[in-house]
Amino acid sequence: SYQASLEAAVRFIHRHQHFLVVNHVNPDGDATGSLLAMGWLLRQLGKRVTLVNEGETPAKFSFLPGADAIVNMSTRTEHDTYDAVITCDCADFARIGEVAAWFAPKCELLNIDHHPTNDLFGDVNLVRIDAAATAEVIFDLVKFMELTINAELATCLYTGLLTDTGGFRYSNTTPRVMEAASELLKHGVEPARIAEQVLETITKAHVELLRRALQTLELMDGDRAAYLTVTLADMAKTGAGNDDTEGLVTYARNIEGVEVGVLYKEVAGGKVKVSFRSRSEVDVAAIAKSLGGGGHIRAAGCTVEGTLAEVKAVVSQKVSAVLRKCGERA
Ligand code: 5GP
Ligand code: MN
Ligand code: MN
Repeated sequence: SYQASLEAAVRFIHRHQHFLVVNHVNPDGDATGSLLAMGWLLRQLGKRVTLVNEGETPAKFSFLPGADAIVNMSTRTEHDTYDAVITCDCADFARIGEVAAWFAPKCELLNIDHHPTNDLFGDVNLVRIDAAATAEVIFDLVKFMELTINAELATCLYTGLLTDTGGFRYSNTTPRVMEAASELLKHGVEPARIAEQVLETITKAHVELLRRALQTLELMDGDRAAYLTVTLADMAKTGAGNDDTEGLVTYARNIEGVEVGVLYKEVAGGKVKVSFRSRSEVDVAAIAKSLGGGGHIRAAGCTVEGTLAEVKAVVSQKVSAVLRKCGERA
């Protein structure tokens, strides 16, 4: 049960002293907020903590308390040994990326997550698939352990809730989420400042990328599927970083009548990152999972080997097949 997994997570924390806490590659607000929240939680318990992500923390999350202490593959200086690893917001082990090389496979691992596709790769798994965010799971842990919620911890958790619910708009915005958010607001969270930072402000590179991406819009399956494409050349010409593509896929999904929105993003090494969003019917996590990725029913992703043309052919065929089935049921 979830109660038993909370107890197991607490025992895990108590039996170790030095933790390596890691989140997923190309971290979003929930991944970053959860990572930092675990840092605040563990330090409150007198533990030693190293927070790490494979790459740099996206600039828009650098305002989060403690973000300057997050290390990455290139800034690593000391070669420490860790008793224990905690993963945040990772549905499977591969989501950690190259950071996996930092610890021995035998070292104990606590997996904290909320993805329905989580494969329970931890020695201890604190996974609640009806949680809106990993931050919500960590909020449960904070309450369960009766820890103090200070402004730093509250800000990190609130940011995770805010971003993974799309600003408290998606169907995962439950009473429980709003209760958690309400409690966090009582502990020094500045909601307007956070929303301004993570939702309202977009980079110039993002807008330049959007300008190009919109020109690639393709509608298929009787206008029920919409596709956008970003090439490596687009990325280079606009000076965009990885996090500048975030949110582009919603322009496809948001078109009236569209059920599935897809963003194809060419990445280095002859691969294409595919982002899926659905409106109300299609389980895009299942499509992403069939291509080696995962995610949530309404938001999922995967990285597929091949050229843009090859990947497009495979993906659009899968989306078409699913939409045809939806049509038959309707
Ligand atoms: P996005 O399209 O914004 O990158 O990701 C949407 C959702 O799908 C997120 O919840 C993310 O965790 C999940 N996701 C994206 N890419 C992958 C992937 O390669 N593997 C898995 N397991 N999940 C992914
Ligand atoms: Mn995430
Ligand atoms: Mn999440």
